[in-house]
Amino acid sequence: MRGKTPVAATVVAALAGVAAAGWPAVAGTGGPSGPTMRAQLAAVLADQEWPRPAPGSWTPPKPAVDGLPTVISKIDTTDKVVFLTMDDGYEYDSDFVALVRKEHVPYMTFLTSTYIHGEAQYFWALRNAGSVMENHTIDHPNMPTLSPEAQKRQICESSDAIAAQFGRRPEIFRPPFGAYNTATRQAAKECGIKSVLLWTAEFYNGTTGPGVGFNGFARADGGKGFKPGDIILMHYRKGLAGEFATMLGWIRQAGFRPAAVQNYLPRSLGGTAPDAPAAPKG
Ligand SMILES: [Zn+2]
Repeated sequence: MRGKTPVAATVVAALAGVAAAGWPAVAGTGGPSGPTMRAQLAAVLADQEWPRPAPGSWTPPKPAVDGLPTVISKIDTTDKVVFLTMDDGYEYDSDFVALVRKEHVPYMTFLTSTYIHGEAQYFWALRNAGSVMENHTIDHPNMPTLSPEAQKRQICESSDAIAAQFGRRPEIFRPPFGAYNTATRQAAKECGIKSVLLWTAEFYNGTTGPGVGFNGFARADGGKGFKPGDIILMHYRKGLAGEFATMLGWIRQAGFRPAAVQNYLPRSLGGTAPDAPAAPKG
């Protein structure tokens, strides 16, 4: 397969191998599974391009003054966009993959890395359909109850696992339950995290939310409906395809659209938007 074989053919063969045997077989440092192959695969499986916000339509979040990862809970924009985020990863629904592919919806996964085991192909499919894979610890502890060392292990080892599987090290962290302290942010920084992303509203898909019932929707500010720049929390739960379709219906009915939150975050905070020229070094 070396020598005259075109790169594309080699990659296709490798992809067939991935599909048959699972991505973990590609791990390694030399030979056909080494860095060159990984670079080729990364190019073929390049992240999707999503519409970017017009200059002046939004205010990029700023680095925190203390030099630790900024905590972001909303995006300041005039666009009628909302940002879908999906946490954990312990339910697997092929209809959901099909829906994301068909509707071409960008969203962000905060993956609890223990759930990758045995299911890497599911998350690969979603990564290629529209999801960025970011960090939600190894096994979902309440971070402020842990020592700084234990917090660091939760974030660094989760990022290691996600990077090994999906070829990109997470730069955005979401703490389980939204609970964090300064040690969490310090640990996150040491693991290469650039921002902490929270949320403005939760869709209690597949479960019951306080005061909003089964499949209820609740804004953190107590209001109703969507506001421009909302970050919406959902979870990988049973019945996800139907629940996601419901959410997409609500968004469209309200005249909004889902957008890719990474395009609204500057690179210094783990996103893809350019940094402001005068931004201080963080
Ligand atoms: Zn969670």
